[in-house]
Amino acid sequence: MKVLLSIWLTAAALVAAPPSFRGYPASAGAERQKLEEAARAIPDPPRIREYIRRMSAAPHHAGSPGSKAVAEYALGLLRGFGLDARIEEFEALLPTPLHRSVELIEPKSLRAAMREPALAEDRSSGDPGQLDTFNSYSADGDVTAPVVYVNYGIPADYEELARMRVDVKGRIVLARYGASWRGTKAKVAAEQGAVGVLIYSDPREDGYFAGDVYPKGPFRPKDGVQRGSVMDMPLYPGDPLSPGWASEKGSKRLSREEAPTIMNIPVAPISYADALPILEALEGPVAPERWRGALPVTYHIGPGPAKVRLRVEHDWSIKPVYNVVARIPGAQWPDQWILYGNHHDAWVNGAADPCSGAAALLETARTAGQMLRRGWKPKRTLIFALWDAEEYGLIGSTEWAEKYAPELDRKAVVYFNTDMNTKGSLGAGGSAVLEEFLTEVLRDVRAPGKAKSLLQAAEEQRGKQDAGPAFRVAPAGSGSDYTAFLHHLGVSSLNLAFGDGDTAGIYHSIYDSFDWFERFGDPDYLHGRAMAQLMATSLLRMADAPLLPFEFPRLARAIQEYLTDLEKLPGADKVDLAAARRELDLLAREAKACEQRYQQAAARLASASQDALTKANESLMRTERSFLRAQGLPGREWMKNHLYAPGAYTGYSAKTLPGVREAVEAGRWDEASRHAAVLAEVFRAIRRQMQEAGQALARI
Ligand SMILES: [Zn+2]
Repeated sequence: MKVLLSIWLTAAALVAAPPSFRGYPASAGAERQKLEEAARAIPDPPRIREYIRRMSAAPHHAGSPGSKAVAEYALGLLRGFGLDARIEEFEALLPTPLHRSVELIEPKSLRAAMREPALAEDRSSGDPGQLDTFNSYSADGDVTAPVVYVNYGIPADYEELARMRVDVKGRIVLARYGASWRGTKAKVAAEQGAVGVLIYSDPREDGYFAGDVYPKGPFRPKDGVQRGSVMDMPLYPGDPLSPGWASEKGSKRLSREEAPTIMNIPVAPISYADALPILEALEGPVAPERWRGALPVTYHIGPGPAKVRLRVEHDWSIKPVYNVVARIPGAQWPDQWILYGNHHDAWVNGAADPCSGAAALLETARTAGQMLRRGWKPKRTLIFALWDAEEYGLIGSTEWAEKYAPELDRKAVVYFNTDMNTKGSLGAGGSAVLEEFLTEVLRDVRAPGKAKSLLQAAEEQRGKQDAGPAFRVAPAGSGSDYTAFLHHLGVSSLNLAFGDGDTAGIYHSIYDSFDWFERFGDPDYLHGRAMAQLMATSLLRMADAPLLPFEFPRLARAIQEYLTDLEKLPGADKVDLAAARRELDLLAREAKACEQRYQQAAARLASASQDALTKANESLMRTERSFLRAQGLPGREWMKNHLYAPGAYTGYSAKTLPGVREAVEAGRWDEASRHAAVLAEVFRAIRRQMQEAGQALARI
C-alpha cells in the first residue's frame, strides 16, 4: 500500500487524479472526494468557540447540576442538528469531599491551604460550585505519620528506596505527579504499607520550570492543584460497585467494602505551594539527582522529621450519570455501528478537558446533520456519544458499553474517541488494523493553519532517518473512554487528539477555563475545526465503505514488534515463547494472504452482492474480537484484550502482550509460561479470524 500511496501522491501532483480510498471501487474516487470535501467545508471555528464557551461557563463535575445542564445543552444542540438524540441515565458511586486537611505537625505547625485562589485575569476562576481539590475514591481516613518523599511513587522508586534502606510502612508518602497514572501511585504506596498519600504537582513537570505560569503563561501557578481519580482503573473502570454489569436504578451493587477499585488509604492532591514546607522539613538522605524537582530546596527523602496529619472524608452517595447519545440509522447496514465519543463532565469548568474535544464532536455531528439535509445517507449507523463521569473513572462510557455489550459485540465496527484537543500536533492511539485507514484520512485533511495535509505534517515531524510508515497508531493504554470498547469488548478503536503538552499546567484545576483556552488552548479554534474535519472524514468514509477499510499486514507487523520487545525483557529467556513465535509467523503470512484477497475483492466491488459484502465486513470487523479471552488477564478478568491493556502498574501507558509481559516484569515465571501458551492460542485465533475474512472476501 505504501508503494501505491506514493504513486498516487506523484500522480496527484501532476494531474490531480482523485485519490484511492481503501474499501471503495477505484471508480468511486472522484465522487467520494467531492462528498467529503463538502463535509470538510462545514466545520466552523466560531461555532466551536461558542460550544466551548457555553459548556465551560460553570463548574460541571459529574453528579452536579452543572453536569446535567451541560448534558441538556448538548442534547438540545444535537436535536437542533436534526439528529435523533436522547439522554441515557445510569447511576454510580460519585464521592465528593466533605473534609480535607493536611497539617504539618512537626517540626513546626502549618496548615496547607488546599485552595486555588480566583484570579482577576480569569473570569470563571471565582465561580460558585467548584469542586474542592481532592482525589476521588480515596478512602476516608485520619492519619498522622512521618513523611517519606518517594519521587513519582512508581515501583522502581520503591526499589531505590529499599536500596537506601528507607521503609514507608506506617508513613505518609509524598509523591510528585508524572510518570504514571495517579491511581497507581496510591495503589503502590498502599501495597508498600504506607498509611496515606500526598500527590503534588512539582513545578519541574508543569509549573514555572516548564514555562511562565498562569495567567502570564499557560503553566501551573503555585496554588494550582491537579484533581483526579485514584480508582484502581487498570483492574476495571466504571462504577466501582458494578464490575462487568450496567449500574442503573435498581440494579445489583457491591457494597463499598467489597469494591476492589476503591483505594484503601487516604490520598490527597496538593499544590507546590503546599508541598514546599513539607519538603523543606524533610531530612535523611538527599534524593538522587533524577528525583529532584524544581522547588528551591534540597530534596531529602526522610522519613521525617516532617510529620503530617492527613484527614479526608467524603459524601459517598450514589448519583445519576447522564450520557447523551445521538443516532443516524444506516440505510444499508443498520446493524453495523460506527461510534464516536467524548466525555462532557469536567473536574471544574474544563474548557480544555473535556469541552475542547466535546465541541469538535458536536461540530462533527452538525456536519453530519447538514450532509443529511443535502441528501447524504450513511450506509452504516452512526452513533455520537457524550459521556458523563469520565473523570471519576470512565464511568458513563463503561456503564453504557456494559449495558449494550451483547449488541456491541454483534454490531460495533469502530469506536472513535477524543478528549482534550488543543493546539499542537496530532497523536493517535488504538488499533493497528485502522492505521492504514487513518493514514488515508490524514492524506485528505488539511493541517490546521497550513497549506499541507496532516499526513505531510506528520512526515515532516517524523524526520528523514526513520524509514517506517509516516504515521503510526500507538497501542492505547488508558485514561479516556475507549477502554470499555477496546480492552473489554474488542471493538477496534482510535483515540485522537491535537496537543503540545502546554495544557498540563491547568489540567484538572480551576484554571482550565475559557479565558485560559482563548489565550493558550486553541486561540483561533483551528485545531477544533481540524478535529471536526478529521472526524467527519473518518465517519463518512467508514460509514459508506463497501468493504470495511481494515488492514492486517500492519497489525501483524505491530504484533511482531510487541513480541520482539517482550523477548528483550530481562528474564524473558526463561519463558518458552517458541510456540507463540511460530503462531505469529503463520499469522503474518495469513495477513498477507488476506490482504491479497482484499485487493482482489476491491477490484470486483462493482458486481458484488450485498449479502457477500455483509458477510465479509462482519468477519473483518470481528478481528479485534479475536484478541479477547473470556477469562481476561491474570488477576483482572474485566480486561479481556490480550494484545494490549493499561499497565497494572503504569495505568496511562499501554502494556502490549500484557499476560506474559507483566508476569515477566514481576518475575512470576510459572504465570509467564502459562500465558506464553495463551498467547500462542490468541495468535492462532487471530489467524483463524483472518482466514475466515479471507474466505468471505473470496466469495465477493
Ligand atoms: Zn478528559
